Amino acid sequence: MRSGIEDSNVLQARQDGMNSQQVFTDVACTLCGCVCDDLTLTVVNNRIESTKHACEKAASWFQNVETIVDRDRQSKDFCKVRGETSSLENALELGRTLLSETHHPLVYGLSSSSTKGQGLAVKLADQFGGVVDSSASAGHTPSVVAFQRVGESTSSLGEVKSRADVVVYWGSNPVESHPRHLERYTRCGTDAASRTGVSKSFLIVVDVVETETARQADLFVKIEPGSDFEVLWALRGLIQGIELQEESCGGVSRDELVALAEKMTSCKYGALFFGMGLTQGPLSHLNVEAVLQLATDLHRHTRWVVRRMRRFGDVAGADNVLSWQTGYPFGVSLSRGFPRYQPGEFSAQHVLENREVDLCVMVGAEGVQYLSQEAVDSLSEIPTIVLKHQQTELPFTPTIEIAVQMYGVQSAGTAYRMDDTPIPLRSILQSDLPTDVEILDELLASSTRE
Ligand code: SF4
Repeated sequence: MRSGIEDSNVLQARQDGMNSQQVFTDVACTLCGCVCDDLTLTVVNNRIESTKHACEKAASWFQNVETIVDRDRQSKDFCKVRGETSSLENALELGRTLLSETHHPLVYGLSSSSTKGQGLAVKLADQFGGVVDSSASAGHTPSVVAFQRVGESTSSLGEVKSRADVVVYWGSNPVESHPRHLERYTRCGTDAASRTGVSKSFLIVVDVVETETARQADLFVKIEPGSDFEVLWALRGLIQGIELQEESCGGVSRDELVALAEKMTSCKYGALFFGMGLTQGPLSHLNVEAVLQLATDLHRHTRWVVRRMRRFGDVAGADNVLSWQTGYPFGVSLSRGFPRYQPGEFSAQHVLENREVDLCVMVGAEGVQYLSQEAVDSLSEIPTIVLKHQQTELPFTPTIEIAVQMYGVQSAGTAYRMDDTPIPLRSILQSDLPTDVEILDELLASSTRE
């Protein structure tokens, strides 16, 4: 079974047998939220031999991918029940029994799945009256709360690449977290000459430490830890024409702030990207609200957009699918037969810590590392069904653990880039592992709630 986009050259190479060299062009990488889709991969004997256009992080990841994925159903790690090797049939049988007994399950993860798998994960939570949440709840909950309160000024990364003459990274270090973000979208200079009269955008970094991105910036504004809100509020005032009385704010002198405000108001098109540095702490949604309102203030002078830096490859896809199907991006309870959204109440961490769920189905294990110890302890106390491709060491022994194909490497699918643009994923390596879609289909088809 194969779906998605495969060009005829690649299909021909497949038909020639596994010993032939296959060159895949325009491959998408899902290692981070950039989802760069211009990679060239050379595959020999079903192994990735070399990569082109991949950042260092992605190159070593692709070349070691066989150590990350379980290659076939003969592997002893393919399917396990309570830590012991099992047949898939036994595991599915047990999975159906667990689902038939559950009263309030949690379906969690979703960021390494694809559109169809994410849709089925929501369906599973709906069918069994549970909670569905993605790993987004561990990172950008404050951002979503802020978007819902004040709205957002948004654009595609393509628009930023073509139009932005000033770019700000606030609380984000993309040189390390999203290595090709600058090269592909903000410092490439494409189209900028015709649109703005400059070949490259003016790069500003606002952060609490001098990061590698800050070292490459045209202007680095170092602020005191925990002072993002004050600095943003002072900037808002300056942009609205209000004079700043204090000599400095959040460790930044008045002159620096005035210069920053002037740079931001005098550009033709500005883009601000914020990262996890802005979304930490108990009232961090106020930081994000401030940055969104800053963009609104700037619109009196010029065009500005604000975007989040997303960590995981398809965390934006999980947001999109959940929003289509339930109206909300994460932290959704379907226990009453209709969607209820409450990030503080229905996020995986909270329902686990409060011992509110009696089964957890994890579609991808990437979110586990962000759960609190108490939530992880809870996962050890309830039955768990884990579909995963990473060799992530789980901090608990799942009741059922099944290795599934990795989207964009072993199976085709769709991932959403950090700007919510859907990117097709291709199958590069052959595998006889099931996809998460196949497993979820099996569980859904033959399970009924008692
Ligand atoms: S920047 Fe991110 S998506 Fe692009 S190649 Fe590197 S790891 Fe992959």
